[in-house]
Amino acid sequence: MHEFGFKDNELYCEGIKITDIAKTVDTPFYLYSYKTLVDHYKKLKTAFKPINPLIAFSMKSNSSLAVVRALVKNGAGLDIVSGGELYRARLAGVDPKKVVYAGVGKKTEEISSAIEFGILFFNAESEDELDEIQSIAARFGKKVSVAIRINPDVIPKTHRYIATGKGGTKFGLDFETVHKIFNMRWKYPNLNLNGVHVHIGSQILDAGPFEDAIKKTLDFLKTYKIDVEYFNIGGGLGIMYSVENPQTAKNFAKRVIPLLKKSGLKIILEPGRFISGNSGVFVTRVIYTKRTPRKKFLIVDGGMNDLIRPSLYEAYHKIIPVKVSEHSSETCEKVDIVGPICESGDFLGKERLLPQAVKGDILAVMGAGAYGFTMSSNYNSRPRPAEVMVMGKNYYVVRKPETYEDLVKGETIPKALK
Ligand SMILES: *Cc1c(COP(=O)(O)O)cnc(C)c1O
Repeated sequence: MHEFGFKDNELYCEGIKITDIAKTVDTPFYLYSYKTLVDHYKKLKTAFKPINPLIAFSMKSNSSLAVVRALVKNGAGLDIVSGGELYRARLAGVDPKKVVYAGVGKKTEEISSAIEFGILFFNAESEDELDEIQSIAARFGKKVSVAIRINPDVIPKTHRYIATGKGGTKFGLDFETVHKIFNMRWKYPNLNLNGVHVHIGSQILDAGPFEDAIKKTLDFLKTYKIDVEYFNIGGGLGIMYSVENPQTAKNFAKRVIPLLKKSGLKIILEPGRFISGNSGVFVTRVIYTKRTPRKKFLIVDGGMNDLIRPSLYEAYHKIIPVKVSEHSSETCEKVDIVGPICESGDFLGKERLLPQAVKGDILAVMGAGAYGFTMSSNYNSRPRPAEVMVMGKNYYVVRKPETYEDLVKGETIPKALK
């Protein structure tokens, strides 16, 4: 469920018409529903109540300060993957003991600042990284908690670019190496190796692969009598973009809770997309329409620099006009919705049946709350768009659109060229 729906032929976000927001905020922009964000978080919270896990929202799906703050304020922890996300997490006022830090390439300064902040633990992904955290922790004279990320070699049944839990990807460590590490705890006097972590991929629609990964990991811990306190089962819960039929939080919980409960470990979940995906839309305006012998195009003011998922993963996002009329369905035609960027790969949707659109019409690209703004760029020297959050009948511009000055911030022309 989400808070985007039609009333009197107008698409609303919570209590506000999107056309009304577009009167004061220039398109394109991202639009988030506070209520949907919190609802999705609470759905997981409720479903997992019997084991009361830490739910650490994956910031890379949406790191807007307002979005992160909204979740933190409602009790969420955070899953971070960089020093930049740590910086944002701190600004959002997160409790350090609710922060976990993953990623294969954490740099010295990033590790240091996370130790200083006092995060719950690192999810370490290599022996080199363990050595690095050990030497920094020693320098601080601190004992630092670390979970080892395991690559359980399961098949997550998702797009190959977002599958992480198969052998052969750069993520995590194989069981044998993990076993070796736990046997050599003495090598790490400043580390408390008190957890294991798996994250097998993203947009996974069925609980099966999660069950596989959890079972494999628990069997491993049992077989080798490895003693840990935490089991971080990662994120990756899929959502509905078009006709998918993803597991609900309730069904997912029903399948995995029995396994987890029996383990007696403290559980951590790292959902990103499940919370933020359908909490946001990308709002864009038709600049031109164009008919060629083979196709009709709607050329819109939002491009692949703003929302890259269609270009990068051939991801499907539902695209709908924010205003329809009684007769809209009679005028439907097949169109490609494309951006202004000079690349053939710059499209938001292909061969979509849409009511006839004209210059100035506004479209909503649905399900754009996760991996939308966070993956945006300045390609073609396009300032990145605004982000807006709706709370009931109010809306707030939570990030101003970038300016041309922002585009060249920090750049100089060397004297030799003057
Ligand atoms: C990306 C990521 C997540 C979140 O994935 P979603 O599919 O958005 O739920 C969780 N944990 C780790 C380690 C990640 O890299």
